[in-house]
Amino acid sequence: MFEKITDRIYVQPPQPYTDRPNVGLIVGDKYTLLFEAGNSEKNVQQIKADLAAQKLPMPDFVAVSHWHWDHTFGLHAWNAVTIAGGKTNRQLKTVSGWEWDDKSMKAREESGEDIVFCNEMIKREYPDRSLIQVKSADISFEDRMTVDLGGITCNFIHAKGPHADDSVICFIPQEKFVFLGDSNSKDLYGKPWKFDINHEENFLSEVEKIPYDRELVDEYLSLLKGLDFEKCADGHIGVMTKQELFDSFSTK
Ligand SMILES: [Zn+2]
Repeated sequence: MFEKITDRIYVQPPQPYTDRPNVGLIVGDKYTLLFEAGNSEKNVQQIKADLAAQKLPMPDFVAVSHWHWDHTFGLHAWNAVTIAGGKTNRQLKTVSGWEWDDKSMKAREESGEDIVFCNEMIKREYPDRSLIQVKSADISFEDRMTVDLGGITCNFIHAKGPHADDSVICFIPQEKFVFLGDSNSKDLYGKPWKFDINHEENFLSEVEKIPYDRELVDEYLSLLKGLDFEKCADGHIGVMTKQELFDSFSTK
């Protein structure tokens, strides 16, 4: 179910069992935008059912924060105009050509194109992997783009940050709010850490061991410092204040 954060912003909390992230809903006078697409058609049906049950509007636009499967694999199941950053969209085009049999998935773990954690979560979300459909977005942009929903605007900014090179954030100045996607978290690709589906309790302590790229963090925080917001939502935890976001980097 969606939780009301401000007058016109709602967040559906994450569902960690299959790594489903926070999903944002921004309701304008004219249009509604969903931030993050869900990770499967099943997830999209659940989001639609929640919106209907809560009498919230269905989205006219669906935007994604970065290419990772848990944010994007539901794109095909929306009857809406879809939006992604240019880098994200180019990667989604690549991923749309991937095969999902065990051998192909294992090969991508070995080449570093994908990681064990994502593959295990994909297998859990999709007991039938023939249902996986990866689609790129209808609209893409480089650097920045604004969508006016009527009385409220979504400012998409290619923020990069420590998690992924293609990360886009969604800044909503009227509500002093930012959807961060996973942009504030660590880079789980290309860094040595272990994930064992039979020992999920070790997930957080393993991720703790991954170092931040301080240069990317500094660049990222200086961008965020310049934005006038009070609260933000990250990818997989929840809503926090701007100060709490900045403090989270000083302790790691
Ligand atoms: Zn991610």
